[in-house]
Amino acid sequence: MRELALIEQIRRDFGTSRSRTIALGIGDDCAILRPPIGSEILVTTDFTLEGRHFRRNLHPPESVGHRCLARGLSDLAAMGATPLSAFLSLALPADLVSTAKGRTWITRFFKGLRLLGKEHGITLAGGDTAQSPANVILADIVLLGAAPVGKSLRRSDAKPGDAIYVTGALGGAAAELSAMLTRNAGPGKLPKMGNHPQMFPEPRVAVGQTLLRRKLATACIDISDGLSTDLTHLCQSSHVAAELVQAAIPFHTLARKLNSATALNAALHGGEDYELLFAAPASIRIPHQLAGVPITRIGQFTRRKAGRPPITLIEPDGKRATLEPQGWEHFSGR
Ligand code: ADP
Ligand code: MG
Repeated sequence: MRELALIEQIRRDFGTSRSRTIALGIGDDCAILRPPIGSEILVTTDFTLEGRHFRRNLHPPESVGHRCLARGLSDLAAMGATPLSAFLSLALPADLVSTAKGRTWITRFFKGLRLLGKEHGITLAGGDTAQSPANVILADIVLLGAAPVGKSLRRSDAKPGDAIYVTGALGGAAAELSAMLTRNAGPGKLPKMGNHPQMFPEPRVAVGQTLLRRKLATACIDISDGLSTDLTHLCQSSHVAAELVQAAIPFHTLARKLNSATALNAALHGGEDYELLFAAPASIRIPHQLAGVPITRIGQFTRRKAGRPPITLIEPDGKRATLEPQGWEHFSGR
């Protein structure tokens, strides 16, 4: 009965806004989508697991909902896609549905998710709700997006000689997380939106769409697992190597407050910075901003040499060091 009430609330909150692409949303056995003519569908799914991706005693519920959607939006952004709709499978501990405090958590979770969806013109078009077998919240979100047939940005087409660009600034999510862990005073009041790269990351959907529309990028990836790890993925997919210029890396204001070694670690390996990394031919002039987001050139792709690690970091004194992929998952127990 309570599950039905919850679904009814979700339907009221998400299902009413009519959209060009959602012919039928929450309420029937399936949703019906009408992708734009000439487009193909991109699909991405992401787990958000309590204890691994967030902590209830650390992240406000709005932040958990926001981040749940942000992960999929960032994947769509990396391919240059336009978000169409989201589907959420949610397993909730019994007390979250049965107590007033629990229901408040759920309401705030959905508020965070809904507000970010609104910014990007998408809503939930379906999902599933079940009781969690343990005292943990498990959410699995599926996002659908559309892109003109054959035009999506991929990881696999960077060429030696292409320049490497990154959106926004790096290290902020890890820096804010370490501040949250140090405070360790519980989620407390909801912070004002704005400078919260850990709690309220801003996926670069408009940048991805601009890169696709203006044919600026040869390859693109989002760097939510950390620059070192995701750049390695792109190098492997494209069969290239990369030279990163340390002095060119844009540090987030929160990372700049850390000592320089910690800041560098946060920017290279911290992860959860929902920025895009893309390749573009060196001959193409890339603006300093795209869709209002700063763009920084941080290195170049080179020919891959057999048996050599893909990424070289050029340190400020000119020394060349191998950069191993060390992006990590928070709370992974490592
Ligand atoms: P069924 O048993 O046919 O799968 P449900 O009772 O699980 O239907 O769900 C009823 C409607 O509510 C469906 O349209 C479903 O997509 C939607 N729904 C259920 N749970 C969620 C959720 N967590 N988020 C969004 N929509 C949901
Ligand atoms: Mg169901």
